[in-house]
Amino acid sequence: MSESALAGMSALVVDDEELMRDFLCMAVQKSGVGSVSSANCGSDALDQIEESHKQIDIILCDLQMPEMDGIEVIRHLANDGYGGGIVLVSGEDKRVLKTAENMASVRGLNVIGSLSKPVPVHNIIALMNQYAVSEQKTSWSMPDVTADELDDAIRAGEIVAHYQPQIDIKTGRVKCAETLARWPHPERGMISPDIFIDMAERHDLIDALTDRIITQATVQGADWHRQGIDINVAINISMNNLRHLDFPDRLHDIVNNAGMDIKKLVIEITESQLVKDLGTCLDILTRLRLKGPTLSIDDFGTGYASMEHLKEMPFEELKIDRAFVNGACKDDTARAILESSIFLAKQLNMATVAEGVETSNDWDLVTALGCDVIQGYYIAPPMDIETFNNWIKDK
Ligand code: C2E
Ligand code: CA
Ligand code: CA
Repeated sequence: MSESALAGMSALVVDDEELMRDFLCMAVQKSGVGSVSSANCGSDALDQIEESHKQIDIILCDLQMPEMDGIEVIRHLANDGYGGGIVLVSGEDKRVLKTAENMASVRGLNVIGSLSKPVPVHNIIALMNQYAVSEQKTSWSMPDVTADELDDAIRAGEIVAHYQPQIDIKTGRVKCAETLARWPHPERGMISPDIFIDMAERHDLIDALTDRIITQATVQGADWHRQGIDINVAINISMNNLRHLDFPDRLHDIVNNAGMDIKKLVIEITESQLVKDLGTCLDILTRLRLKGPTLSIDDFGTGYASMEHLKEMPFEELKIDRAFVNGACKDDTARAILESSIFLAKQLNMATVAEGVETSNDWDLVTALGCDVIQGYYIAPPMDIETFNNWIKDK
């Protein structure tokens, strides 16, 4: 094929070893790819991709790198909605490569293939050609927004809270509303948090964004409680929000100013990166617990070392990721993970929430397995405040 198609494409080689990097660049150039650049670490790669406005067609990424490994790079790419092709390169055994390939595909990325080191040049050329043949270049799913625009939107209060109900299975009542951030962009329509949360984390905007969302959620919670609507309010925090020791005090002040009972607050915590400073993180989590909110471990089953953290961190609720809930009745592996997560939570005296309940089959299964709380499109999608208030009135 089509040298000309390859000539119009650009590739980025990410490898920490200089020799390997140079070799891969040379082989990719030889295949006819028009523009080839390189990065010696994951964060440099992500910066280059952002600066190029995602115009990099193919990324060849080493898995084993100090600082940010290839798996983390993949996660960032998935969160950013990267639409190009990915080739995984590794000296690890083939099963590790296969698992990484699966993981990237599950996250919605377009994996062209993987290469085991040492890599023969003709394998690289073959992969590049295969990509050029298969690729009908479509528009990227990532809207072209910049960190400056996000900064302005946060300051202007344009990031708004939507709410999704959680139902207590035993009583059938609405137990909690999960707050989910939305960015209604004047020109580009509604932008998903999968895109802007990650951007906020990488540009040091996450603390400002989190404060805004917590403020909206707790003011809303206080308002519901005044009206006699007795529901908890859940907010989302990622583990790398927990860098500042004063976070529990800041949170406490926001909740107090809003006039909401902090005991009605649930903090859902996800781990989007390996915890860098476990001491600080444990200090913050323990002090948060002492101030009264419920701590919930979010996306259970997908994060880093979730099991390990159950042992050492003061969580009271376990929220099972939708990957193991939706369609679990037809998927033995998902069902096994769902079942053992609920069992584990019970052993540890934790409440369980199943997210991503989309059908009556999902509902029946999680109920039969003894889950406590259910959330998902089957009940209601996340809604703006007006729609949520109308929905709850009709309940
Ligand atoms: P999450 O915490 O796991 O939130 C649940 C996500 O699943 C939401 O996506 C929700 O809209 C979606 N969802 C709910 N029910 C169903 C269902 O039945 N089926 C399917 N397929 N999906 C369902 P959303 O709103 O796009 O949020 C994505 C992620 O962004 C959230 O995942 C959360 O990790 C993050 N996020 C959202 N708001 C915030 C925030 O204020 N702060 C932080 N740090 N993260 C946030
Ligand atoms: Ca959540
Ligand atoms: Ca989730």
